[in-house]
Amino acid sequence: MGVAPAGVTGMRRRDFLHHTGLATLGSAGMLATASAQGGAGVSAPPFPIGTLAPVRARVDRVMAMTVCLRPFREQGPRIDAERVGQTWLVHNYGHGGAGWSLSWGSSTLAVKLACESGDRDCAVIGCGALGLTSAILLQRAGKRVTIYSKDRPPHVPSAYATGVWSPDSRVCAAAHATPAFGRQWEEMCRVSHRMKQTFLGVTGDPVEWRHRFLVSEVPMEEFRRRREAEDGPIAFGKFQERVRDLTPASEDFPPALHPFSAPVVRRTTTLFFNLSTYQRLLVSDFLAEGGRIEYREFSSVAEFSSLSERTVIHATGYGARALMNDDSVVPVRGQIALLIPQPEVNYGIVAEGVSMVSRRDGIVVQANQASDFGKTGLAPDRAESEKAIGVLDQLVRGMKVSGSSVR
Ligand SMILES: Cc1cc2nc3c(=O)[nH]c(=O)nc-3n(C[C@H](O)[C@H](O)[C@H](O)COP(=O)(O)OP(=O)(O)OC[C@H]3O[C@@H](n4cnc5c(N)ncnc54)[C@H](O)[C@@H]3O)c2cc1C
Repeated sequence: MGVAPAGVTGMRRRDFLHHTGLATLGSAGMLATASAQGGAGVSAPPFPIGTLAPVRARVDRVMAMTVCLRPFREQGPRIDAERVGQTWLVHNYGHGGAGWSLSWGSSTLAVKLACESGDRDCAVIGCGALGLTSAILLQRAGKRVTIYSKDRPPHVPSAYATGVWSPDSRVCAAAHATPAFGRQWEEMCRVSHRMKQTFLGVTGDPVEWRHRFLVSEVPMEEFRRRREAEDGPIAFGKFQERVRDLTPASEDFPPALHPFSAPVVRRTTTLFFNLSTYQRLLVSDFLAEGGRIEYREFSSVAEFSSLSERTVIHATGYGARALMNDDSVVPVRGQIALLIPQPEVNYGIVAEGVSMVSRRDGIVVQANQASDFGKTGLAPDRAESEKAIGVLDQLVRGMKVSGSSVR
């Protein structure tokens, strides 16, 4: 039988069991030490997850449906410099599904390259995750900075991301996952992770630590395999093992201790980015330090020479494909539906065919589809989101709340 931990020695054993829900488990209490599945999980502590507030997964609660294109490059993000005429041009684009997560680390590398010119005045092209972090880091390096961009938040592709810590999501092809790239990725990842912590506790919660539940009908290894198949037709480089120390170990819960109807549940603890607050904060921090943002659209790199700045960081994301004539940037379409926020839902779910992330500014519901790879259409496909919401709804309906199902 489970043993009451030290903190409950003053409590009568029967009360403890009743309080924690273990009273109903009988020998299932032993399952509290379930073995890790897939190698990454550790045994859950002998406490049930408890009640999770249910998501109201209904299509009439959709506030917005958005689409953006992940700028994927098989060889990984482009972070290098070249001289083009009079301009010292530093590239910082092609971060796939990891742009928000790697932004500070990638931009730190780009700014180092930019500083080689010795110029005081610098330009940044693009006002997404990579452009904003490049601009702020240039300011911190003592530069006077202007951002030139055809759009600014909240109307940039970065604004339509899920908003979770996903530093190796579609960041390169497995065939290009060399040890050298792995080291660079790790450096970017660690720098970014450190920077993200500086946004904790800030008004509006731009960054928060949250739980995310992987919920599966099949063993975790098979679940992973199926999720990867949803990612697309090529194998992506995976590097998370290099930074295991950055996040708490995931925990596996036996069925008796979690509220889902599926048998396999793993709880991870990770960072959520509340993108409304986060991107506004980046813009206001940049402006507060004397930065300028100018609306401008470029149709070729040659046009950069018309800028008064001779040092330029180029961070146009998927825009680089046309601007640089760079076919190595491949679109991976991503659509999200944003449901009305539910502050009481303070977690996320990853299941087969759907993921849910509860942010302060809305509940993100998303379907992962292999067919997104190479796809460009920016028009939302309503049926796609409605299907994902339906899958989530079924999952929620099966959840136990205080011994009964949700509704
Ligand atoms: C559905 C979805 C979910 C995602 N979820 C996550 C997540 O949870 N975590 C994560 O880390 N990443 C996530 N990503 C990936 C992430 O959103 C991208 O990697 C990131 O937004 C790329 O940022 P960027 O600054 O390079 O590009 P963008 O946000 O596209 O910014 C490019 C900027 O350049 C400007 N621009 C483009 N072309 C021109 C031009 N010709 N002239 C002037 N200006 C130009 C644009 O106006 C914009 O300001 C997700 C992506 C998608 C599609």
